Order: sequence, then C-alpha cells, then structure tokens
Amino acid sequence: MRQPSTHDAIVIGGGPAGTSAALALARRGWAVAIVEKSAFPRRKVCGEYISASNLALLDRLDIGGAWRAEAGPEIRRVGFFSGDTSIEAPMPGARSGPAARDGFGRALGRDILDTLLLDAARSAGTQIFQPCRAVAIERDGDRHAVRIEATGGKSPDEATILRAPVIVAAHGSWEPGPLPSQLEKKSRASDLLGFKAHFTGSSLAPDLMPLLMFPGGYGGMVVADHGRMSISCCIRRDVLTRLRDSLVRERGGHVSAAEAVEHHIMATCRGARQALEQARLDGPWLAAGPIRPGIRAGYRQDIFRVGNAAGESHPIIAEGISMALQSGWLLALELGAAASGQAEREAAGKRYEAAWRGLFSTRVLAAEAIARMALGRGGAALTEAVVRYFPQTLTLGARISGKTKPVPGLADARPRPSPLS
Ligand SMILES: Cc1cc2nc3c(=O)[nH]c(=O)nc-3n(C[C@H](O)[C@H](O)[C@H](O)COP(=O)(O)OP(=O)(O)OC[C@H]3O[C@@H](n4cnc5c(N)ncnc54)[C@H](O)[C@@H]3O)c2cc1C
Repeated sequence: MRQPSTHDAIVIGGGPAGTSAALALARRGWAVAIVEKSAFPRRKVCGEYISASNLALLDRLDIGGAWRAEAGPEIRRVGFFSGDTSIEAPMPGARSGPAARDGFGRALGRDILDTLLLDAARSAGTQIFQPCRAVAIERDGDRHAVRIEATGGKSPDEATILRAPVIVAAHGSWEPGPLPSQLEKKSRASDLLGFKAHFTGSSLAPDLMPLLMFPGGYGGMVVADHGRMSISCCIRRDVLTRLRDSLVRERGGHVSAAEAVEHHIMATCRGARQALEQARLDGPWLAAGPIRPGIRAGYRQDIFRVGNAAGESHPIIAEGISMALQSGWLLALELGAAASGQAEREAAGKRYEAAWRGLFSTRVLAAEAIARMALGRGGAALTEAVVRYFPQTLTLGARISGKTKPVPGLADARPRPSPLS
C-alpha cells in the first residue's frame, strides 16, 4: 500500500458537479483531489444542452471562452414532436444578470465539456486520480479515509488511501456501488432507462430543441458542437422489453435495446423521423440508468453530495448539467473556510441543503409533473392538445424549469483560505 495522502477535500466523480466543486474550492486555496473512474474524453448519456443562465458560472470556472467557441448554435426555439404533431414556441432568453449578454443556451458534447472542466480543475491546482474508482469511505478520527483503486486492468493491491476532513460525493446516481452515498440498486417495470446517440447530417433546425413524446417515454433532440445532433431519451423498462420482443418476432435474431429504441422513435414520432431521415449515426448508441429522479440529502453521514447524487430532475427539462455545475458551486460557497471540524461541516451542510432546495426544488417538481403527463395514459395526446392551443406553454415550461434563473453568489464570492492553513 502506498503512503496516505492528505487533502482538504476529496471529490468522488469528475463530472460537472465534481469539477465545479473542486475547482471552486481549489481557488479558495484548498488542497483538493478528484477521483474519476473513467479515462476522458468519454461520451455520456445526456442531451448536452446547457441554459444560458450558466454562462457566467462557466466563466468563473474558466471554461466560458472555450465553451462559447466549441458549443453548437443558440437554441432560440423550444419544440414539441409527438405522433404527427410538430409545434414550436420561443425559448425564453436570460432577461437580466450576467447571463443576459449570452441570451440563449447551447449544447456541447459531454466528451468535450467534461474534459474542459476537468482540465480547468487541474489547472486550478486540483490533484486528479484518473482512472481510479473510490471503493470505500471510512471515518479516520476527524477525517475520512477514501480507498481508491486504479481501473483499467491494474491490480487492486495498487489501492491508495486518500484522507481529508471533507468528502464530496459527485458520482452521479445511475450506478450502484459500495459507497454510503451511492443509491441501492432496484429494478422495477416502471424504471426509466436512458439512451443517447449522436448523428451527423440531421435536418433538425439548428436553433430548435424539440421535446419528443412517444409511447412509454420521452426525449429530446438538439444540434450540438461540430454539426453533431444529440438525441437522448428515457423509456420505461417494461415498454422496452415488449418492443424488443416484438421486433425479435418480426425480424428474427438478436435486437439490441438501442435498435428497439431508435425503431420506436422513428415509428411513432414524425418530427424525429424527418430530422433523422438523411442522418448518419456518429458513434454507438449509449445506454444508462435507470435514472433516479428526486430530491435527496445534500449532507448525510458527514458526506456532502452534489449533482445527481444530491438530487435529480427528470431529463425532460434538460437541467441536470446546470444543477450539477450550480450545486458544486453552491457547496463551495457554503463550505468557505469553516469545514475543519464536524460541527462546522454540519452547519455548512444545513446551509447548503437550504440553498439547494431554494434553487432547485421547483424545477425538480415541475419536471416530475411534466414527465408524469408524458408517461401517463393519453398523456402525449393531452399535452399535444394543450400545446396546440397554447404553444406559449412550451415557453412557460422552459422558464419554470429554471432556464432563466440566475446562479447565486457570482458577484460576491471571495476567495477564502484552506481550512488546514
Ligand atoms: C436521457 C438523458 C438526457 C439528458 N439530457 C440533459 C441535457 O440536455 N441537459 C442537461 O443539463 N442534463 C441532461 N441530463 C442530465 C445530466 O446528464 C446529469 O444530470 C448530469 O450528468 C449529472 O452530473 P453529475 O456531475 O452529477 O454526474 P455525472 O455526470 O454522472 O458524473 C459522475 C462522474 O463520477 C464518476 N464516478 C462514478 N462513480 C465513481 C466512483 N466510485 N469513483 C470515481 N468516479 C466515479 C463517473 O465516471 C462520472 O464521470 C440528461 C440525462 C439523461 C438520462
């Protein structure tokens, strides 16, 4: 076993939530480690859209310029594709605050976004352990010891123990695991499984982001960077099983889950079919999940949680990256310098949970309501009727889902010293 390392904070997971928290803490002079199990760049199940309200934060995280240079076109219209129906309405722009100059959200592939963020965290002084998986967290006096193991074929006796008073769980919510902050694995017929693919040569209007509704699921399409169109969706486990069975009967032989999903969307959603008619798949379909929407603890068992680990909205509103980036930032603001003792961590945990709920609860609940409508019996027809007569409900939905809500603490965040200094 190697010598133990000592940090002020260990962040488990190098997605948007982990890198945002790590970078903000490193800027305050903290000694921070990120443990990330995958080698980057890596693709990810995600629609890849980010609202403009995040751009001031991306600037603070030092990737605003790169994001503007790399991301796809501005998304000025929100749409609704279901059955034979295609309806569009204006996307609300950021009306005030630092985001106003950027106006509209855009999409950037997670292979690029997450690499930019991790590189920025590294440049801010964060030590990156990658590809390494955190496999245990144990109390060690007033600190925690995190056991990490190299992934990618190295033997487990190459395990390292990292120690820090502050542990940040930023490992997402879709994979079960041995950590106390990971969610237990459950399998239900109503589970929503996530799928995503990139296509090139799509005819989707570059400024339009349609919501897709189809029997048993929902999804979205958006033109991202370098002409790639990102299509992502969630589908019920039981519906997917039936679809695969029926395709196997029809075609014979093996039918992959992704093939069944693509076939289903093409067969039931004319807008998506038209957008994909001339398009070519760019890389394989990816699958993940089941997704775990809901509001969870932001601080429990002396472990702080950010991003999906703290709470998750149905991706029907495409706000998960925003919530990940912003929750990491919020946590860093609340931790400040006062995190060396458990009482101080508990106080910071309470403040962080209150700030999290104030910023995100409405969008989690709004997403739940929209998803229930989409997935319920006759829900797509009902939504279509509402949207047909009141297309502005699409604009209103985008606003309620937080697309124009400014990120707090960008004006007054002052660097604070490390708790160990
Ligand atoms: C179909 C679909 C479409 C979506 N579309 C959008 C969209 O358009 N816009 C949007 O904003 N959001 C979207 N989302 C949501 C978004 O993808 C997530 O909310 C977001 O990725 C959460 O970020 P995170 O940093 O919390 O977790 P993640 O991005 O999941 O990152 C967690 C990281 O932790 C690492 N990790 C996990 N376990 C360990 C471990 N034990 N040790 C070390 N590392 C570990 C993982 O490798 C990963 O890199 C979508 C989701 C789905 C399912």
